Amino acid sequence: MASVLSLDQGTTSSRALLFSAQGAVERVAQQEFEQHYRRPGWVEHDPEELWQSQLASAKAALGGAGEVACLGITNQRETTLVWERETGRAIHPAVVWQSRQTADICESLRARGLEESVRAKTGLVIDAYFSGTKVRHILDAVDGAQERAERGELCFGTVDSWLVYKLTGGRVHATEPSNASRTMLYNIHTRDWDDELCAALGVPRAMLPQVFPSSGSFGETDPEVLGRALPITGIAGDQQAALFGQGCHAKGQAKNTYGTGCFLLMNTGAQAQTSENGLLTTIAWQLGDEVHYALEGSVFVGGAVIQWLRDELGIIQDAAESEGIAASVSDTQGVYVVPAFTGLGAPHWREEVRGLITGLTRGAGRAHIVRAALESIAYQVGDLVDCFGQDSGQSINALQVDGGASANDLLMQIQADVLGAPVVRPSNLEVTAFGAALLAGLGAGVWQDASELKGVIQEDARFEPQMTDERRTELLSGWRAAVAQACVSSPLHS
Ligand code: ADP
Repeated sequence: MASVLSLDQGTTSSRALLFSAQGAVERVAQQEFEQHYRRPGWVEHDPEELWQSQLASAKAALGGAGEVACLGITNQRETTLVWERETGRAIHPAVVWQSRQTADICESLRARGLEESVRAKTGLVIDAYFSGTKVRHILDAVDGAQERAERGELCFGTVDSWLVYKLTGGRVHATEPSNASRTMLYNIHTRDWDDELCAALGVPRAMLPQVFPSSGSFGETDPEVLGRALPITGIAGDQQAALFGQGCHAKGQAKNTYGTGCFLLMNTGAQAQTSENGLLTTIAWQLGDEVHYALEGSVFVGGAVIQWLRDELGIIQDAAESEGIAASVSDTQGVYVVPAFTGLGAPHWREEVRGLITGLTRGAGRAHIVRAALESIAYQVGDLVDCFGQDSGQSINALQVDGGASANDLLMQIQADVLGAPVVRPSNLEVTAFGAALLAGLGAGVWQDASELKGVIQEDARFEPQMTDERRTELLSGWRAAVAQACVSSPLHS
């Protein structure tokens, strides 16, 4: 039986995973690449290095493999590239999603009153995070680029488009809706590039990729590139791929990824839900003509608060140790950590707020602070889930989890307690790569229906809420008071 190759192009490394027809991971290859910080706040990747690292890991995963039916791609989202259509040479470094170099362009879009239009058409807020202003930056930074783009000599693409172009030997310039919906140039309702937004940013249509469904044919790899011609049949941005890989295929299902930050996505079905709480509306995937939308929210400081305990406070040796230390006390004795290191996101949206620790008493020690830090992750995710509930009118039945910090059983139990809903962790945490493989396998007919692979993402652990409602209310009101205190004591509070 044929396997499926999944390329997982992330922010710090390029990975390739070969999945068997039964959905098991057969091989994994990975290569890291360099981060470039030319100026404060700028983050860039070398497009050629990014491609070469992905190519090397794809070749390593394919080496000696038997029949491979197709290839899927999942990728760091929003990261922006511009290259020459003829030669495939990038004209500028890839501007990475984290990069803040287009804050000024965003400010000018706001000044022109485009906020409402962006929100209504793209489901996004105007932010340097998204690709549109990054394309503008590149066209401004490179002499003659604007004219060349107008003449159709340049291609814009997110990382998926770049990989497809390279894999097909420059024959295909394409993307799909989950990536396109992060560009701020794509109307998620009409499912087309938006003329008003493209004009506002001076991005000519001639440089935009064709948008195909997330699962289906994107073209074939050039045999010279990978040593074999593989149909590319599935693509999704990393967070949407994880939602798909977690099996959240139905309306109301949600997953949270606990990494450095946390990314919570809820499938809202065929309906695009507009948020009143600062969540983003995005396309989850398009299968055939059928589109699934998602609401998305993020916690800026998730697992990063554990890194902070380790690197700045020095009170733990490694992230995993946080679990045992926190478990050595039964509660935090009223200590709360508000890790608003870079401000507060949804539902507060207070950029200027900074972190604090409240409720310290003479008896409060290391274990209480570690526990409070872990709890802060769960409270922030809980606040997001509340926003989702208000916006979608639906409560979460169970939360599917993945990402590095989801390995922490205590955190998962606290999360279930805070939500008052079960938290379900799969045994295979490769859900992102699996999601892309699944989209590709469905697109190529390896599988007829996602339900055929239901058994692949096995439940490893299920955390049921154990806390009384009374205790939950007490803890949550303590958390809210701590957040309110952080807001009041912020240096710019007026
Ligand atoms: P990313 O993809 O953002 O790099 P990962 O999914 O690799 O993140 O997760 C790493 C993050 O998870 C780090 O911030 C780390 O502090 C945290 N983390 C890893 N293991 C644990 C653990 N056992 N308990 C708590 N946090 C953890």
